[in-house]
Amino acid sequence: MTTISRTRNFGIVAHVDAGKTTLSERILRFTGRIRRTGEVHQGDTVLDHRADERDMGITITAATARCAWRDHVLHLIDTPGHVDFTVEVSRSLRVLDGVVVVLDGVAGVEPQTETVWRQADAHTLPRVLFVNKLDRAGASFDRCLAAVEERFGVLVAPVVVPVDGDADCLIDVVSARLLIWADAEGLELSTGPVPERWRSLLEQARERLVLACSLFDGSLLEELLQDGPLGIEPERLRNALRHATLERLVVPALAGSAYTNRGVQPLLDAVVDLLPSPEDRALPLGLRPEADAPLAAFCFKVVHDKFGALTFARVYSGTLREGTRVRRGRDDSSPRVGRLVRVFAADREDVSLATAGEIVGLLGGDFITGDVLSDVGSDVALEPIHIPEPVTLRAIEPQTRKDRDRLGGALRRLLIEDPSLRVSTDADTGQTLLAGMGELHLDIALRRLRDDHGVGVTAGSPLVAYRETIARSADHDVKLKKQSGGPGQFAHIVVQVRPGAPGSELVFADRTSGGEVPRCFVPAIERGLRDGMTRGPLGQPIVDLEVDLVGGSFHANDSHERDFQLVAARAVREACRLGGPVLLEPWMRLEVTVPESELGDVLGDLSSRRARITDLEAGVGTSTVRAEVPLSRTFGYAAKLASISHGRGSFVLEPLAYEPVPGALVAEALAG
Ligand code: GDP
Repeated sequence: MTTISRTRNFGIVAHVDAGKTTLSERILRFTGRIRRTGEVHQGDTVLDHRADERDMGITITAATARCAWRDHVLHLIDTPGHVDFTVEVSRSLRVLDGVVVVLDGVAGVEPQTETVWRQADAHTLPRVLFVNKLDRAGASFDRCLAAVEERFGVLVAPVVVPVDGDADCLIDVVSARLLIWADAEGLELSTGPVPERWRSLLEQARERLVLACSLFDGSLLEELLQDGPLGIEPERLRNALRHATLERLVVPALAGSAYTNRGVQPLLDAVVDLLPSPEDRALPLGLRPEADAPLAAFCFKVVHDKFGALTFARVYSGTLREGTRVRRGRDDSSPRVGRLVRVFAADREDVSLATAGEIVGLLGGDFITGDVLSDVGSDVALEPIHIPEPVTLRAIEPQTRKDRDRLGGALRRLLIEDPSLRVSTDADTGQTLLAGMGELHLDIALRRLRDDHGVGVTAGSPLVAYRETIARSADHDVKLKKQSGGPGQFAHIVVQVRPGAPGSELVFADRTSGGEVPRCFVPAIERGLRDGMTRGPLGQPIVDLEVDLVGGSFHANDSHERDFQLVAARAVREACRLGGPVLLEPWMRLEVTVPESELGDVLGDLSSRRARITDLEAGVGTSTVRAEVPLSRTFGYAAKLASISHGRGSFVLEPLAYEPVPGALVAEALAG
């Protein structure tokens, strides 16, 4: 067992291609978890173990690996790299205590760097910066630091800096030593005094570091004035830097080149020295990061392989024990915890328990991503995960008879792994519809269906998940009456419907006073309203609706719950027709970065997509456009941008909100 203070749960986040996978691989090698390093371009890395990731060269699965460094246990959680997977990113960020943000030393701050930075802010995660690829021509450590300070309004402190702009030797600013790697493999790291010619570089970096740390410890300023930048004890500086980092006053920055094996060990030192332990993070009331505290664990990832389901859980408080029952918040049931395993890069090891601060795998059991586990009989719980509504649909058809037989089971497993996917049946065509966050999200889901679950499907082109609401309030009176012979049916309600706040789904209130409708029928009425709202007058799900039950009547013998449910479903549909249906479409937030010379073409193309430009930023040689655009006009954007920008553009697309479709476009939208 390890003490909690010597545990680090951390992740690596970056824009695609910044080198996250390469760096993760090096970390596992330097901590002894794997012998030989796989290279991304050879498609054999250990973390990216899924076939689709290898094909596409991007990281989708939040694989987790346990390793050790300087007597500490590190859990490296590999967060997905593409923005269509923001749900996967945010649910893995949630189980981290700190992050390493990787920058491409040439490209600097890229669109998705901003996205992950914002997400790390939302989770109040302390972070360190790793400026990678310093072996490449055109890379600049200083420029990257300036860009981060400017873009994010934070103070960056240089901790490991390159000499001669190169990553072959680096200077450790805290200990004021030169870091020297003797071999190409980067395994042998020695240190030496900093030669005279790099002395002023060191002094400048150290002064900047001390100034940053003085935000936490003011007395450092006096010492700086008295003894100069090199006069301060490394231990004292490191301690102040740890506190300043944990309080997110400062972002320490390290230089390196994962590919040429430079700078990885200092980064591991920084993870241990500067990033939080589980004890340093706040927990909800009643929970403590201690083994004998009440249990609170969060299931953040489920994967299926030939042995069945493997659920990754983070234990926040208390102890999770093999063979015991736990309370599952989702349905208030008490499932049994089966085998527990520690997951290393490529293998697993059985354990009988996992204590606060740890990340552990649960074998078997029907847990889904987002489940919260606590002691049976306790009501201590963690906040459930927020899963945005999927906005894109594709109709799918099994390819063969065998595929048809296996499709249901495979889709069930897929939804357990990724609850941001939805499956439904098209009411008109009877086709199976798969819904997700965007075009690429669905592409990946289909690949997983084929490669991991062995089911081939043919998919239709991406469709927009429209919704509908109403323009104004309306009253409606509906009666169901069948009382001739046999058991009778009677239900009668009067409802008032009104437009609700965006994102509010259904807000229902019983405003009857005199028992016109007995209270025992009210839950059935609410169920009926939800039934009715699955398909409104325009054929889309109804959202953002307030419904008041304002009157009605019942029959002592002939009224049943079922009758009220039926009448409520009819009432809400008809009332919405009276209230003037309004078609809603999803809008996306788009951020495009292109070489300056292509900006005009990009803007021209965006205007043909009904985009609203919200911000335009001219960088050094590159420009960034921020815009809002209807989802319906984003399909195929990746290919279009690649052709406009000759492959040098990149973009980030994420769901923003639903908005009314302009009147002139409603017919076209509904026809599509
Ligand atoms: P990810 O998308 O962030 O996971 O990035 P990868 O680790 O897949 O790296 C993207 C590409 O950059 C691959 O071809 C890597 O070999 C290459 N790469 C990664 N790190 C470095 C580096 O330090 N220097 C150079 N020159 N190339 C690198």
